[in-house]
Amino acid sequence: MKIVHISAECYPMAKVGGLADVVGALPKYQKNAGNEVRVVVPCYDTKFKAENVFETVYAGNVVLGNFEFPFNVLKEATDKLGYELYLIEIKQLFDRPNVYGYEDDIERFLSFQIATLDWILAENTIPDVINCHDHHAGLIPFMLQFCYKYEALSGIRTVITIHNGLYQGWFSHDKMHYIPEFDVRHAGFLEWDNALNSLAVGIKCADAVTTVSPSYLDEINVSANGLESLFNKVRSKSKGILNGIDIELWNPSTDKMLEEHYDIDNFDFGKQKNKEKLCERFDLDPAKPLFSFIGRLFDEKGGDLLPQASVLSLSENFENINILILGSGNPDIEEQLLQLRDDYKGNYNVFIGYNEELAHLIYAGSDFILMPSRVEPCGLNQMYALRYGTVPIVRRTGGLRDTVIDFGDNGNGICHDQSSVGDVCYSINRAVKLYDEKDHFKEIIKRGMATDHSWESVCQEYIEIYNQN
Ligand code: ADP
Repeated sequence: MKIVHISAECYPMAKVGGLADVVGALPKYQKNAGNEVRVVVPCYDTKFKAENVFETVYAGNVVLGNFEFPFNVLKEATDKLGYELYLIEIKQLFDRPNVYGYEDDIERFLSFQIATLDWILAENTIPDVINCHDHHAGLIPFMLQFCYKYEALSGIRTVITIHNGLYQGWFSHDKMHYIPEFDVRHAGFLEWDNALNSLAVGIKCADAVTTVSPSYLDEINVSANGLESLFNKVRSKSKGILNGIDIELWNPSTDKMLEEHYDIDNFDFGKQKNKEKLCERFDLDPAKPLFSFIGRLFDEKGGDLLPQASVLSLSENFENINILILGSGNPDIEEQLLQLRDDYKGNYNVFIGYNEELAHLIYAGSDFILMPSRVEPCGLNQMYALRYGTVPIVRRTGGLRDTVIDFGDNGNGICHDQSSVGDVCYSINRAVKLYDEKDHFKEIIKRGMATDHSWESVCQEYIEIYNQN
């Protein structure tokens, strides 16, 4: 089967969060299963782009209303990623360091989608399926069906995978003319709640909708930033498929970013060495349990709970724990977290920013990972943590509900129900007690490390969706 993934992110080319990890891994496993797989992402000015070799396979001009931008399609020359990676190079729009956050994001991602389809059309090797990821590729199913110039591609099956339904790619009616000419009788597909909504378009027009966990699919039928009724309507063509993880990249026995390698049989020594390295760097005490957070510092992730939960937990436990936070996002939360450094020197630290290597070391060297998320479509951190022998402390929501079971129920982690400072502190207190029951703690770590979250066991579910009529 010929599969094309279209996405704004793909690790290692461009990563902001879990979308990149999924689009960087699922295609590899689909290719291993015998499919022809391509991934198409915009050509940002990233480290990966600068350090790798690409060949130009197509050149064209993308028309966006009255604007016209020259574009190139670049192919990663060595195929070392395990699938074919193509970059859509539109210099005026994407030759910038960040993936998102520009005033012209609508123009950027619309041009990306149009250029991608122009290239697929010109190349004349029609894929069987296009898997669109999130709203940045949400207009593709509409354009394939209704834009005159893509008529030859209208037989391609389309699937939209929702990694995060909060962000929807809204734009105003005066930008409708950016979309290549289509039969205006179908303009209604573009609209949702008095705006054009890229995610809603994808959900309406794709042949199938997937979410990145079964529980998240249930939840967005009740709460989805305004799209609840739409999700209800398309329930029969929707499926929640739990994300996998790339077990080659995320492997504590080979991970180059770690201080010491280990596996399920010798994690004690290996984890301690990584913890010592981490504690040395952040002025923490390796004899105390280490609670870490890695992620975007937004309310969605429960980032707003972290400052107060840290203060209360550190005070209640007479500073007998360590807390380490890696992330960036809301400047208020960042500021509050930074301010705590002086008050809890030696027990608390924070790194504001994005750092892939540090994240790996934190998964390996921590005892517990905090995930107090309000919304978590799947969450990958808990799966990496489990694989690295770090016990996840999660709020039961979305994919966290599907992957973490409380140790009180013979599970692999610690769970609470509310997004509240009280619940987070209560879970930390339970964790401190568990940490002191060494044998029990080890048993839970082992149970987590033994869990199989590899893509191999999940990737067939996508193929089934691609094959459905
Ligand atoms: P998201 O909603 O942000 O996509 P996920 O749990 O699905 O959340 O994926 C988060 C991914 O991003 C993980 O690979 C995690 O390690 C990584 N990550 C998040 N924030 C940072 C950071 N500040 N530095 C390094 N890696 C990070």
